[in-house]
Amino acid sequence: MLYTDRSDYSDDMSRVKPIYDAIDAIIVDARLDHNNLDRAAYARHLAIADAIITHRVPVDEPAVAAAPKLRIAVRGGVGYENLDLTALTERGIPGCNVPDYGSEEVAVHALSQLLALRRQLLFYDSSLRTGRWQDWEQARTIHRLSLQTAGIVGFGRIGREFAARARAFFGEVIACDPYIAPEEITARGVRPVSIDELLASADAVTLHVPLSPETTHLIGEPQLRRMKRNAVLVNTSRGPVVDQLALAQALEHEWIEGAACDVWEREPPDPAHPLLRCPNFVASPHVAYYSEEGDRDLRRLAAEEVARVLRGEPPRCRLN
Ligand code: NAD
Repeated sequence: MLYTDRSDYSDDMSRVKPIYDAIDAIIVDARLDHNNLDRAAYARHLAIADAIITHRVPVDEPAVAAAPKLRIAVRGGVGYENLDLTALTERGIPGCNVPDYGSEEVAVHALSQLLALRRQLLFYDSSLRTGRWQDWEQARTIHRLSLQTAGIVGFGRIGREFAARARAFFGEVIACDPYIAPEEITARGVRPVSIDELLASADAVTLHVPLSPETTHLIGEPQLRRMKRNAVLVNTSRGPVVDQLALAQALEHEWIEGAACDVWEREPPDPAHPLLRCPNFVASPHVAYYSEEGDRDLRRLAAEEVARVLRGEPPRCRLN
């Protein structure tokens, strides 16, 4: 029995069906609301689950305790902060993620939001729609991109994909990642720097770190105040990496020029969220990963991981 909280793992069955058929999996597609989790309903599924593929629902200590047959938990995505690896490890259950299905998509999404901000696309679009042609009075100054510096925080899979593309647009690309050897960063034509230097010198900052206690509110008021006044910030990593109320303040008081968020401290965000009232702000609803091809790869790779472990083989992407 495979439990999943996301409908489309069991849709598009033509591609993943043979994988599930080979292990005789019965898929329970519960679609529980992770923000208002019905623990009793969840526990009923867990009581009979051999495997879990979770998108948003937590596989935390009570969930693991409620799943006596569980043999594998897969986070259907890259970030895995909703898997309690300690609880899984105590039971000897592998916790896995799918790290490599959509790095290109996230990098392209971050770059698109960044370019939209730098080229003032939202402003021009709304001006024209309200009958204003070349409204120089209201328009912000635009500067040549090849004279600017892009700063990447987190030089993993997505950060590297971003760097490869950003080098075609920006005069310089710098990156901060304390866990990657500086030579690895330099080898990709990117200059390694500290977070302080990055915030002080980048004209565009993009975040590609995992969510952890260390990265929670990595960007808050002090960091935003340290950034250049003309800088823009793009967050496609995880909502809590940025203190979003401080970011709204930064935009309101023009500590920085613009920002974009694909991810939110609470998802979905309150429609009255102050960021959604900021003019120089680009919003998207946690879709940076999405392309048809990436989504198909995600479903296939998650299914293959489950099948592997239920067949008694080692998983491909074990986290614990
Ligand atoms: P990755 O593990 O390959 O890279 C993350 C990098 O961040 C690592 O190199 C790590 O050393 C670095 N890092 C960790 N802590 C840091 C810190 N304090 N300062 C600087 N660097 C630090 O992961 P990835 O595939 O590049 O993905 C990054 C994150 O993007 C994921 O963890 C996930 O939360 C997020 N993500 C979002 C979407 C989306 O749709 N918006 C999709 C996929 C992934």
